[in-house]
Amino acid sequence: MKQKTRVAVFDFADCEGCELQIANLEEEILDLIEIVDIVSFREVMKEHSDNYDIAIVEGSIMRPMDEERLRNIRSKAKILVALGACATIGGVNKIRNQWMHDEVIKTVYGDAPIHRNELFNVFKTKAVNEVVPVDYYIHGCPIDRDEFKHVITSLALGKKPEIPNYPVCVECKKNENICQFELGNFCLGPITRAGCKAICPTHNSPCEGCRGLIKKAETKCVWEVLERYNLSYEDIRRRCTMYNYGKEECSVDE
Ligand code: SF4
Ligand code: SF4
Ligand code: SF4
Repeated sequence: MKQKTRVAVFDFADCEGCELQIANLEEEILDLIEIVDIVSFREVMKEHSDNYDIAIVEGSIMRPMDEERLRNIRSKAKILVALGACATIGGVNKIRNQWMHDEVIKTVYGDAPIHRNELFNVFKTKAVNEVVPVDYYIHGCPIDRDEFKHVITSLALGKKPEIPNYPVCVECKKNENICQFELGNFCLGPITRAGCKAICPTHNSPCEGCRGLIKKAETKCVWEVLERYNLSYEDIRRRCTMYNYGKEECSVDE
């Protein structure tokens, strides 16, 4: 009998909410473990093995010690999957990259004697692919559980998972929502990768871009939206700060 694909889950700087989404699959996890063996997942099990095929990595990389650990994980994995915005794009952890490192440390820890402690030896926040090659991405803050199942099932069956590269607006229109711009809000749906079923505008909140920016934002379409609502490129750049600070795609349509 063919050995099941071995999967290990790891976390770095994050809130562990994406791992919680996996744990929240509850009974549906039984379908997954028909085809994969979960050999390491600190949030839900005590067992650990370094013998795995797929490494799923959640969280941002903040310290030299994180880089070393991540390289070690990469060296053992045939496939590495970045899980959630903290890992795929740096996410909310990149907000602090706007300020000088010393300024951030001083604001958070004041005069506490932390300077010789390597746990606090942080550099500018990095997404996982800024340290090691990433094979696949599961986007979102938090991730969508159905998409997680789709990606892991596809990989276990030797298939390439399809991830949308069109904007959230497409899913939003399918849901027949009133556009957030019409309600006076600023929504990043036109330049954000779909796949979340447009959950935020469907629940009357503008999109904040947690799934990252689409590679080829429709320039004309985005400019039409900006013009219609009297907004500027600078407004877009500011709105991108929460999840996409420093992303080049933000300026692709400048
Ligand atoms: S992407 Fe969001 S939910 Fe997932 S670990 Fe990061 S902060 Fe938490
Ligand atoms: S801009 Fe936002 S609210 Fe409007 S259609 Fe696009 S995703 Fe929906
Ligand atoms: S609507 Fe935007 S912010 Fe909300 S989950 Fe989807 S991509 Fe993330």
